[in-house]
Amino acid sequence: MSPRAATPASTREIHLASRPSGRPVPDNFRLATIELPELADGQVLVENRFMSVDPYMRGRMNDAKSYSAPFRLDEALDGGAVGEVIASRSEAHRVGDVVVHQLGWREHAVVDAAAATNVPAGLAPTSAFLGALGMTGLTAYAGLLKVAEFKEGDVVFVSGAAGAVGSMVGQIAKAMGAAKVIGSAGSPAKVARLLELGFDAAFDYNDAPVLEQLQAAAGERGIDVYFDNVGGEHLEAALAVLNVGGRVAMCGAIAQYNSTEPPAAPRNLAVAIGKQLTLRGFLVGGQRQHAAEFRQKMAAWLADGTVRYDETIVEGLENAPRAFIDLLDGANTGKMLVRL
Ligand code: NDP
Repeated sequence: MSPRAATPASTREIHLASRPSGRPVPDNFRLATIELPELADGQVLVENRFMSVDPYMRGRMNDAKSYSAPFRLDEALDGGAVGEVIASRSEAHRVGDVVVHQLGWREHAVVDAAAATNVPAGLAPTSAFLGALGMTGLTAYAGLLKVAEFKEGDVVFVSGAAGAVGSMVGQIAKAMGAAKVIGSAGSPAKVARLLELGFDAAFDYNDAPVLEQLQAAAGERGIDVYFDNVGGEHLEAALAVLNVGGRVAMCGAIAQYNSTEPPAAPRNLAVAIGKQLTLRGFLVGGQRQHAAEFRQKMAAWLADGTVRYDETIVEGLENAPRAFIDLLDGANTGKMLVRL
């Protein structure tokens, strides 16, 4: 173990000060300074370099039962982070190792060795292990290939297409032989970026109803796969345009994360009967068995330029709440990260 004197005695972290009602506001968060505990056997001290802000965290800010436990008031939030081990009482991780773990929203984290995964050196910048090579990349890969059972020649529509998951979905589909990839996003700049990334068609959902724009982009051929990051009006439009036997990977419903009312759409779910559609919800946590295959394929695609990724980086822990709020508002292109 490296000497304790070389490590800080205290650190800063972001606490949940109150539960948001609707859209979160800065007052829902509080910056706190805490004393760092001594490391126990089997623990490492990590100096976080990047932390992730993710849409699912919004659900954990509510005091409601869900697939992951609610955040507790007046305690640090948590989530994906990557950082350097600066002290270790574990054989598994040495000082200097770069690890991914789940104790983000803080500058230093005391992590159980088993909860930290070493990042391979030299493969990609460390931030990529929270995005393209990390959780959001695996979500895209497994959601498209294993959940929606994408096959060569499919026409794919993905919403939230300029975000961390969506931008990977579209590029993976192209890499694997999609006949056409259509993306929707919330600004002209994002639409332009999608076309640069190789999407065949893209539209701004603010310009006109999603159904109208999706029909125009899909034409007579329709769509075979819908990768849903948004829910609501997007899902309703996709159900209308999907071909017989079409498949939907239900990944997220960000259009309703800040809602205080139930969603108005989809109103046409029953078309799934006649079209014999498959709608499958999934969690990335249930897709870990594909992680090694994903990592290998994605590393190769990144190395030869088949897949590119964007990051929107906000500086400093104190700005993490802002980054999270801005993520829900669509300020990011690609993965939203905070550099610590
Ligand atoms: P993104 O990087 O896509 O960021 C969120 C984006 O959502 C924003 O940039 C914004 O882009 C878009 N957005 C916000 N509000 C709306 C709205 N009302 N209608 C349409 N788009 C909106 O985040 P992620 O890639 O991390 O996550 C994408 C989705 O995948 C989320 O729904 C998330 O919950 C889900 N997810 C699910 C996982 C699982 O295990 N099932 C794992 C990881 C993510 P724009 O400017 O285009 O509006």
